[in-house]
Amino acid sequence: MERVVVVGAGLAGLRTVVGLREQGYAGELTLVGAESRGPYDRPPLSKAILSGKSDDSALPFDPDELRVDFRPGVRATRLRGDVVETAGPGEVSGPDLDFDGLVLATGAEPVVLPGEGARYLRTHDDAHALRAALRPGAAVVIVGAGWIGAEVATVARTVGCRVTVVEQAPTPVAHALPPQVGRHLAPWYAEAGADLLLDHRVAAVGPNTVDFADGTTLRADVVIVGVGVRPATGWLADSGLELDRGVVVGADLAAGRRGVYAVGDVAARWSPRYGARVRGEHWDDALRAPAVAVANLLGGAQTYDPVPYVWSEQFGRMVQYAGLPAAGLPASTPAAGPPGAEPDVPGTQLVWRGDPAADDRWSVFWLDQDARVAAVLAVDQPRDFVAGRRIAESGAAVDPALLADPAVSVKSSVAGSAG
Ligand SMILES: Cc1cc2nc3c(=O)[nH]c(=O)nc-3n(C[C@H](O)[C@H](O)[C@H](O)COP(=O)(O)OP(=O)(O)OC[C@H]3O[C@@H](n4cnc5c(N)ncnc54)[C@H](O)[C@@H]3O)c2cc1C
Repeated sequence: MERVVVVGAGLAGLRTVVGLREQGYAGELTLVGAESRGPYDRPPLSKAILSGKSDDSALPFDPDELRVDFRPGVRATRLRGDVVETAGPGEVSGPDLDFDGLVLATGAEPVVLPGEGARYLRTHDDAHALRAALRPGAAVVIVGAGWIGAEVATVARTVGCRVTVVEQAPTPVAHALPPQVGRHLAPWYAEAGADLLLDHRVAAVGPNTVDFADGTTLRADVVIVGVGVRPATGWLADSGLELDRGVVVGADLAAGRRGVYAVGDVAARWSPRYGARVRGEHWDDALRAPAVAVANLLGGAQTYDPVPYVWSEQFGRMVQYAGLPAAGLPASTPAAGPPGAEPDVPGTQLVWRGDPAADDRWSVFWLDQDARVAAVLAVDQPRDFVAGRRIAESGAAVDPALLADPAVSVKSSVAGSAG
């Protein structure tokens, strides 16, 4: 292999070029990035940068040391055979880049609601512009009570804005958490002094307005939308690659054409663990997948199939979540531990450690029919989380009664464990 092109200079793109050199690739290496700056981390955008604790989240990157031809401000516009077509700022077309190895790492873009002028948060520049707009006393409406919406609400309240979060689902983080779990995140908004309007469907947004489907309108000084992301695959439309909510790749991260791989938010990978196609959309995936893609591009035969992991810092709490509870779990069994009176997530047994209604710190585990940990959510319980994630990765079964007992360590709940 002599010429590798990496498209997208976010975390996944950076980890790919670093991985190539670390794994001994000595040929030509080009990194194309649509943004004008070098690779940077996105999780701080809605945390340290928005709150003013930090101005920058640049990742260490020395193109000379890595012998990378880095092209910031250059967008890949088309993939035609073994050529990536490009365009620089203000250009209709730039140089063609031919390759014998290609790694797609173009990440994702915010889902855009109808209407003009609302704000979105994906880039360094978005974060700085939003920070300037979040002034004490400003009326801020955030559309979406997902991970990002909650983080923006947290910072906006800290700054002293008047905050309303609107969400079409009946509970926060509804895309990832079932209502039985998500509803325990709702009181955090009121505690922080933010209004949370659930079951509110937004029809359109403007710079200072949110129009609801029922015909009513909410006015604000700042409107921010955080309703999810879409993989950045537009430029691949006629590439011949299979696209289905991302670039479809196998567990080896190969995109079905020799020498072409996809990593990070743009990849829709087959997971043997879940028997389903999954999209990472999380930092951990962009960090870890590239080493596997690189190994395989260089002739290896590795599989990438972790338990998905995300964290979120909201309303003074560290929320950590790992797993995929919805994937093919069969018939339901009763819940264990408080608040045990609740109905189950279909096909899953929920085991609570601590009571979310009474305790500041708690965790909840989803068990499948064989009492294996399908997912774990922990609120300020990093030990429970680390152990739970490890058990989920291992596929070991647990004893639900032991797991529900906060006096017993999560690790000791593994069936047959000596403690
Ligand atoms: C505000 C915010 C907070 C977050 N917080 C968390 C968190 O707390 N925990 C967590 O797990 N995850 C978090 N995430 C998600 C995490 O940041 C992403 O999963 C991660 O950035 C994905 O990395 P990536 O390299 O795949 O994609 P990206 O970071 O999106 O990078 C892709 C790059 O490719 C470029 N690009 C796109 N199209 C082209 C093209 N055609 N040609 C050239 N370049 C192109 C883009 O401009 C971008 O720079 C957060 C994301 C955001 C936006």
